[in-house]
Amino acid sequence: MFFGNIGEIDLENPSSYQKIFLTFDIDWASDEVLEYCIDIIEKANVKATWFVTHETPLLERLRANPNFELGIHPNFNPLLEGDFTYGKNYKEVLKHFLNIVPEAKSMRSHCLGISSRILQEAKNLGITHESNICIPAMAAGGGGYFEALY
Ligand SMILES: [Zn+2]
Repeated sequence: MFFGNIGEIDLENPSSYQKIFLTFDIDWASDEVLEYCIDIIEKANVKATWFVTHETPLLERLRANPNFELGIHPNFNPLLEGDFTYGKNYKEVLKHFLNIVPEAKSMRSHCLGISSRILQEAKNLGITHESNICIPAMAAGGGGYFEALY
């Protein structure tokens, strides 16, 4: 298939990543907006990876579509500013988001918020793929990361 999901990437198998990857950071969008987006992607009948920030009944609809992968979109920004909304350390923040999507194999942090410690703990918790690094030659869009790099 021409489109792939982030969690299907196998670095030993180039055909697994020589594809188009549609990824969406849900970013607390309202259900109305999220549903509008899901309708478009389902109509196109393509694969997509959804990085989830919050509980919504629409997660069940996303899980029911075999084209879709659900990852987590952890937000470490409050923690960095001394706000324990999502947990009092990076491990608790990861667990907060994994409680929403326990099956997640992929993640993308807000504001590229990663470190080797976060990545090691994510791996310990079952995350196999992270999608924070934007490779400019391969990027299409990039949700602002692209601008941040230049
Ligand atoms: Zn985001």
